[in-house]
Amino acid sequence: MPTSSARAAQVREWTYHLLILAIGIAVFAAAVVEADSNGGVGADFGTAMLIGAPLIVVIARFPMVLDRGTVGIEVGFESCVLMFLLCTMGSAEAVIVWSAGTLLTQALTGKRAAARVFNVGVGIVGGGLATVAYDAVNGGTIIESPRGLLAVAVAAATYFIADYVLSAVAVTISTGAPLRSTLVQTGTVLAIACFVPLDSLGYLAAVVARATPSWTLILFGIPLVTLLIATRAVTRGRENARRLTVLFEAAGRAQSLADRQAVTDALRRDAAELLQMKDVQMRTSAPAESEIGVEVQLGEETVWLVARAVHRARATVTGDQQALRTLAAVASDAIARIELIDEMLHLARHDPLTDLPNRAILLDRVTHALERARHQRTQTALLFLDLDGFKPVNDRFGHGAGDLVLVDIAGRLRECVRESDTVARLGGDEFAVLIEDVDPRDVPAMCHRILAAVEEGAVVGGQVVRLGVSVGVAYARGSDTAASLLRNADLAMYEAKAGGKGRCVEYKPTMGRARVERLELIDDLRGAVEAEQIEVVYQPVLEVATGRIVGAEALARWHRGGVPVPPDVFISIAEETGLIIALGEAVLRRVAADAAAIRAIDDGHGDPLSLSVNISAAQLRSPGFIDTVRRAAEAAEGTHLVLEITERQGVDLTGEVLAVMRAIADMGVRFAIDDFGVGFSSISYLHDLPASVIKADAALSADVDHDDRARGLLRSVMEMGRTLGFLVVIEGIEREAQLAVVMQDAPYSLVQGYLLHRPMPLADLVALLSGAPVAQQLQR
Ligand code: C2E
Ligand code: MG
Ligand code: MG
Repeated sequence: MPTSSARAAQVREWTYHLLILAIGIAVFAAAVVEADSNGGVGADFGTAMLIGAPLIVVIARFPMVLDRGTVGIEVGFESCVLMFLLCTMGSAEAVIVWSAGTLLTQALTGKRAAARVFNVGVGIVGGGLATVAYDAVNGGTIIESPRGLLAVAVAAATYFIADYVLSAVAVTISTGAPLRSTLVQTGTVLAIACFVPLDSLGYLAAVVARATPSWTLILFGIPLVTLLIATRAVTRGRENARRLTVLFEAAGRAQSLADRQAVTDALRRDAAELLQMKDVQMRTSAPAESEIGVEVQLGEETVWLVARAVHRARATVTGDQQALRTLAAVASDAIARIELIDEMLHLARHDPLTDLPNRAILLDRVTHALERARHQRTQTALLFLDLDGFKPVNDRFGHGAGDLVLVDIAGRLRECVRESDTVARLGGDEFAVLIEDVDPRDVPAMCHRILAAVEEGAVVGGQVVRLGVSVGVAYARGSDTAASLLRNADLAMYEAKAGGKGRCVEYKPTMGRARVERLELIDDLRGAVEAEQIEVVYQPVLEVATGRIVGAEALARWHRGGVPVPPDVFISIAEETGLIIALGEAVLRRVAADAAAIRAIDDGHGDPLSLSVNISAAQLRSPGFIDTVRRAAEAAEGTHLVLEITERQGVDLTGEVLAVMRAIADMGVRFAIDDFGVGFSSISYLHDLPASVIKADAALSADVDHDDRARGLLRSVMEMGRTLGFLVVIEGIEREAQLAVVMQDAPYSLVQGYLLHRPMPLADLVALLSGAPVAQQLQR
């Protein structure tokens, strides 16, 4: 739909064109009346009409084009025919033939109706004025005189000026450009320079026609055709140069366009400028018969850029089509570049796995939220989330499964919050939620929704895995920055973990201390591992049937500033920070070195002792572990090396881990499943592992001396282990009564416990092995 201002411009344009046409008709009518009053047309009128009118049509096809906006002024040289007619017949008759030629010319062009109406009018008016000027100067003398020549020159100039000025006014009316700038432009002088000599050809032809037989006029075809071809070459050459400029500018500008709309707007504008056509369309339908068009790929969308197909003096239809194609390619490139940049920006700002905003974007949004909250005096809350129980999923089912769980959780989190809240992934299993303009009374409900959503667990590889989430909540205070708010929420989350996981805890300023202490502990542990300050103690393992010590379990010990740190504390920190790999290797090296002293003792039965070392699942996944174990096994030759993997951590049985375990088992190193009975116990799991020892967790033997159910449970675990061919070690024997039950129910097993021996330094173990091979308690 045209806008109202466009409609008003159209009305103005048509009014002007019709006015000029009306004057033209009046001029024509006056010529007819005049001819009639002169006694009708002369004998040559018919011939003049038959040859002159078509000649006007032909010459009019080769105008010189002077550009102005999307319209352009065409200066035709067909007026040389008018000059010929004026010199050879009555003025009125000349105007009639001229008018007929003009009418025919416009009837045969493919121009817009408005342009044709105007051109008919302007042609006849110009012709009329030229005739008046000619008559005025010539005054009825013969043409073969200076006066006759002058009359033709004045008539030609009059025609040119009339045509040029009336066209310039038309351009001004349709484009709104000031008349002055339309009139004064490059090319005008060249046009006059071409125009006057060409028109004088008409005069020359008339002189020749009067002196020689009419057929000699054919000779004028040669200079005429040469001149018309030259004119066309100039017009087309200038048009091509102009088009190149438009294309260069469009291509240059396309580099800096920032969005699709800008590209589309520029494309439409450039196409109009390139073709010098006002009505270039962008639409979804292909061009019709009378149209040209190109398909433009604007990202995913395809549109058609369509214009009228019209042969013009300035360019051919093929040339127009080619120009549109080039412009379309520029636009498609620009869109492709914009989309690529958009994609890169998206990738830089989002987590590729879950497509959630990343830490950088979160911090950015928090910064803006804090500013807004300060102005609008609203509250901002930030939730820091860390999944509980995610690591075992990764360890046990592999990272592919872990990724699926994270994507699933991300989707659930988004459903728990408002549309306006930001859910971001900070990395690993950490997420954050930014809640703007929040009423703190609503936050507990939101936290509960989040806890419940995550606690639904996830189905991985057909198994349901339990998950939870610990949430720290921090409210922005006046002085907070994005970083400090995030740190506070993190500290609160840490408290939620420490307080038993699966809960929401609100930040309090006292929370920072505990975190700092933990960071110091991590630093110290790292130092101790690097300085090989982790010690190893050994707890003997005994055979129930004989009371003999058959092996020992190596247990790591760390004294921090002289104070022992409980193994459960430093081992779990080492697990969380990845230090466990270095720590585990150090323990393995220590045990391999200690093996020499143990091996030297002959227990009198010739059986080598077993040395058990605890290893973490992370070690199994670390590169080079097989070689580490091989070196330790070689150094510990003469003892049996056993690697205990705690069942609590779960082990990824699907991947390379199993292959690593098999390779290690193949070199004669055995595996024990530690803490059996309290972790991910399943028979199929036992079946898959290349393990030969089960260590029943202390929890299984804790109550066997006073609880029949506990006793039954231990017995069934023993039976199962035995049936599957495992050697079973019962841990945590602290009391005589417990031992008595074990001796009765599981005489073929091994035992380990404070009642028999506490963990001890190597020297004590050596002394023990050398002196007292049979435990008093186990003697029947
Ligand atoms: P674990 O592998 O199950 O080791 C047995 C734990 O039970 C040891 O605790 C041992 O001191 C304790 N224990 C032995 N007899 C009794 C008893 O009669 N009653 C009770 N209540 N406890 C008994 P510890 O030394 O504190 O080690 C705790 C855990 O730390 C170990 O459990 C093991 O999982 C881990 N750990 C220790 N050293 C290492 C190591 O070098 N590498 C790895 N990855 N883990 C280690
Ligand atoms: Mg153990
Ligand atoms: Mg254990």
